[in-house]
Amino acid sequence: MSEHFDCLIVGAGYAGSVAARELAERGRLRVLVLERRDHIGGNAYDCLDESGILIHRYGPHIFHTSDQRVYSYLSRFTQWRDYQHRVLANVYGRYMPVPFNLSSLHMAFPGEKGTRLEEKLLSAYGEGARVTILSLREASDPEIREVADYVYEHVFVHYTMKQWGQTPEEIDPATTARVPVLLSRDDRYFQDPYQGMPLEGYTAMFRRMLDHPGITVELGTDARDRLSLEGGTILLDGAPFSGPVIFTGEVDELFAFRYGRLPYRTLDFVSETLPVDQYQPAATVNYTVDQPYTRITEYKQLTGQVFPGRTSIMKEFSRAYTGAAGEIPYYAVISPENNALYSRYEALAATFPRLHLLGRLAEYKYYNMDAIVARALALCDRLLEEQERIL
Ligand code: FAD
Ligand code: UDP
Repeated sequence: MSEHFDCLIVGAGYAGSVAARELAERGRLRVLVLERRDHIGGNAYDCLDESGILIHRYGPHIFHTSDQRVYSYLSRFTQWRDYQHRVLANVYGRYMPVPFNLSSLHMAFPGEKGTRLEEKLLSAYGEGARVTILSLREASDPEIREVADYVYEHVFVHYTMKQWGQTPEEIDPATTARVPVLLSRDDRYFQDPYQGMPLEGYTAMFRRMLDHPGITVELGTDARDRLSLEGGTILLDGAPFSGPVIFTGEVDELFAFRYGRLPYRTLDFVSETLPVDQYQPAATVNYTVDQPYTRITEYKQLTGQVFPGRTSIMKEFSRAYTGAAGEIPYYAVISPENNALYSRYEALAATFPRLHLLGRLAEYKYYNMDAIVARALALCDRLLEEQERIL
């Protein structure tokens, strides 16, 4: 088996699929992709539910990027539906834009007070500024701190406790910085120049990406049953494999938890189809003060699918990943201690010169889709340059 392939890729999500296409197309290499799920696309996979509504099985995915190369690359495999994501927070039944922006400010502080606070914020930080909640809480002006306390209590602390089981101060500051206080009336969730949804869905885009004569995809295959890694050598089906191996799964699992488990958060998704045209006022509503779930997404509003009389929604419940059968790790729990444990696995992986860790799990980082595409392209640039030097 192994001599038929020049390189091996574990995982058919963004990392694995982009790398497979690059190596097969630009490098003219024969690529084997092993994927343990019964489908391609990783966590971006979408499919029709029982009532025929297009849903994202692993939670809502909205494509956004400032990286022109990434956008052009994916545009080879899909057209786009123009879509700008808008999120509302449900604050005790009242809907307020998130990120917290100047419109949210006037809802929270009506009348003259709101006007005064707006002026203060604009003169302190400038129009259009993106201020993290943690830095806003350190403001010296007591009225700005009052705004910060309001946003902390009504947007961040309860949602963050649900999502991470920790307060905003306890988690990696880059996490809450993803959703800053926005000193403008732009009510979009993302401000990137390129935003949209793949016109026929993510899975269709992945299918085209993997549709290349140099690529073989084997679904329902856990690479750990086919690979063994010992003393710097990688065996595939018992025979030494000398080509590059790109691994996009959990690195602690790859090495049988030799140094202990890396912590992750998992999600339980609860879906429902309801006999109404529209369920809620935005595609995603964040429950920032109450309810056990973090958010509800109504898929028709994301995808633009027309389906009168019925709509499908999904609630997300977050909890610690335990490694039990069927659980999927979705988020690395970034902290100095966990990063140090990850570094030990990274060093172990580096003892296999042809093994490359790529992707959100394998790199133990909070990467969006576009970042993974960019990293996959960069890794393949490097591998193909090396190949050219050898030939
Ligand atoms: P994955 O998609 O996890 O793919 C890894 C693949 O490897 C999986 O298919 C897995 O089954 C397979 N695998 C693992 N181990 C093995 C093994 N041993 N053998 C065989 N196969 C294996 N990003 C955005 O840009 N916008 C969003 O709106 C957005 N929303 C998100 C919402 C949620 C709920 C989550 C969890 C993530 C979201 N993301 C979003 C992030 C996005 O999902 C990731 O950036 C992207 O999917 C990462 O791609 P990947 O290939 O690194 O990982
Ligand atoms: N967050 C929050 N309230 C919100 C939105 C986000 O507290 O209404 C915090 C929370 O800690 C969350 C982080 O900001 O985990 C990042 O949010 P994002 O929407 O980027 O999370 P993702 O979509 O990746 O789950």
